[in-house]
Amino acid sequence: MAQILDGKLVSQKVKDEVAAEIKRLAEKGFRAPCLAVILVGDDEASKVYVRNKKRACEAVGIQSLEYLLPADTRQEELDALVDRLNRDDAVDGILVQLPLPKHLNEQSIINRIAVDKDVDAFHPHNVGKIMLGVPKLLPCTPAGVMRLLEEYSISVSGKECVVVGRSNIVGKPMAQLLLAANGTVTICHSRTPDLAAHTRRADILVVAIGKAKMITADMIQEGAVVIDVGMNRSEGKLCGDVDFEGCLQKASYITPVPGGVGLMTVAMLMQNTLTAYKLHINI
Ligand code: NAP
Repeated sequence: MAQILDGKLVSQKVKDEVAAEIKRLAEKGFRAPCLAVILVGDDEASKVYVRNKKRACEAVGIQSLEYLLPADTRQEELDALVDRLNRDDAVDGILVQLPLPKHLNEQSIINRIAVDKDVDAFHPHNVGKIMLGVPKLLPCTPAGVMRLLEEYSISVSGKECVVVGRSNIVGKPMAQLLLAANGTVTICHSRTPDLAAHTRRADILVVAIGKAKMITADMIQEGAVVIDVGMNRSEGKLCGDVDFEGCLQKASYITPVPGGVGLMTVAMLMQNTLTAYKLHINI
């Protein structure tokens, strides 16, 4: 039976490290880091994510500023807010909660965020740095997965790594981080014929599809490390993209949903905000 990769435990460790460093800096007279979070509209899931991020900030000693804008906010208004936060010397990190309402141009807003304040690491400059293997800020979810692997001493080097999903937010940067750690990486997506033939080869399988319990036990190899990024609702309950109960018997390690990657994402955001702050005040 697989060992559970405990996102609750490891995310708490990351947050404790961040909190300890902020405390040390405060003792030397430095101000607290500051994260500005922008939420446009009333998407329920986004509201929950923003609330969790705010709580995490409070827990580690990061000041959080919340901008809750109505769903009919115009592009110019959002642009103006991002410009103002870019210029504000008291703000270290800026996060625009995605997805945005359809009439707003997501990529244009991402491109507008100052590179050093881009705590989600979605700006093309930061994406390029990840691609080149010289990142300053790392995308939170893939970075959280890498930290989980590290904590359980799961080596990536030389392993067959299969990532299912090629989104800019999860799949692509995940593949880059695994590659940077010397994994042999395959990326699968909706046009991949015979998905199971690929997933069955994986020593490390990362799944970010957005389809409840799509990866079943017959699709993984005995002893695989299975990382489930998915967050879906099935019969009113939160579940991942992996059939957890089935794969638990066959995998060597597996992340639960909830209690896995989602918690790591928030913790890595705290770490990124601290990194952005240190870049900003030059320490
Ligand atoms: P996304 O942008 O919708 O991308 C989904 C990817 O899955 C696409 O690349 C798509 O392929 C691929 N896909 C869809 N159906 C497939 C199939 N039948 N076989 C193989 N590939 C398939 O989603 P995302 O933003 O990456 O998020 C994925 C999941 O992770 C969602 O459940 C989301 O809620 C969750 N998530 C969790 C966290 C966290 O912190 N835990 C963070 C972000 C996202 P194509 O490119 O060909 O369409």
